[in-house]
Amino acid sequence: MPEIQITEVISEVFEWERPAVWNGSHIYGYGSLHKVTVRTNEGVSGVGWNGGTAAVRPQRLMPGFVDYYRPLLVGRNPFDTGELITDLWEKQIKILGASGLHTQVLAAIVIACWDIRGKVAGRSVHELLGGEKKRIRAYIAGGYYAAGKGLSELADEVRYNVEALHATAVKIKIGDPEAGFAEDIRRIAAAREAIGPEVDLLVDANCACDLDTAIAFARELAEYDVYWFEEPLPIYDFEGHRRLAEVSEVKIAVGENYYSKTDFKSIIAHQGAAVFNVDVAICPGYDVAREVAALAEEAGLTIVPHGCQELQLPLVAGVANGEMLEYYPPEVDPIRGDLFAPRLLLEADGMVTVPDRPGIGFEINDELLGRYRVM
Ligand SMILES: [Mg+2]
Repeated sequence: MPEIQITEVISEVFEWERPAVWNGSHIYGYGSLHKVTVRTNEGVSGVGWNGGTAAVRPQRLMPGFVDYYRPLLVGRNPFDTGELITDLWEKQIKILGASGLHTQVLAAIVIACWDIRGKVAGRSVHELLGGEKKRIRAYIAGGYYAAGKGLSELADEVRYNVEALHATAVKIKIGDPEAGFAEDIRRIAAAREAIGPEVDLLVDANCACDLDTAIAFARELAEYDVYWFEEPLPIYDFEGHRRLAEVSEVKIAVGENYYSKTDFKSIIAHQGAAVFNVDVAICPGYDVAREVAALAEEAGLTIVPHGCQELQLPLVAGVANGEMLEYYPPEVDPIRGDLFAPRLLLEADGMVTVPDRPGIGFEINDELLGRYRVM
């Protein structure tokens, strides 16, 4: 039997209107998704994507990278994701650069290849990765800044996430220079008050702080029993992370903007974090993310992936040190609730069940998304 081969790689971009939200560093003004479909000579197709969260990236630039990669992919075996990553990433560094939008695109391609592999084998990607867990705890991402959103609206949001959506952990943003330090402390206090003492509270500065501000935050965060302080500093301030982690009683979480094992090795070497928010749509796919998880395990760190939960669930549930799943509720976006099928929901105890369907286990709702195609 001839081996399975990639015959076609299709790139589509979708955009839709959404009320703007922002964090300490970026305004997210519209919804978007870049979808990659990989077809094979055996009739099995796989799908990968970038987007599907509250964040926005310039996804109209992505199809050009798919055009660049396509001749390097057609005729290749989609199961050989390790070799594809070597050929399309490491061997292209002089041409495309070390990492960035192109490696995000490569991530979607690699994810589509894993989807194919799972569908051909009749097994879930989670199972192919090792299948450590059947259920996993989720935390609800949110607490963004938005126009007209004050302390009571923030409190209402996190209380809703706990009471209506069953979260046992919730996250809010801090670090917006417009809000300021004192207002952020009031936001943290309001969130803690709203959710009570039993629910974990996480905060995320999206790299907005300098070291002095981050240390000042860390001192206050312990007072509110904050579970982690995410991305306090610019990502490559490794020395700053080391100094912050030394004085912080609260765990430091990083990794959603790290692309390579070298990035993660560097933060480990500086003992600058306790949790890695690796994202399979940023670092190129499950292969690299799995290796990052192994590095983290060796160093005693846990994995709580960042980003689109439907893509990250196989990873966090598939590795031994997978701790928790980031979860974007339907409320972050007018179409998110219907974007993926089946709908992933938190159960009454704040856990989600890992799907055992072949491949990634979630399909994009093409009928809905098709209305918003721009490329
Ligand atoms: Mg974050």
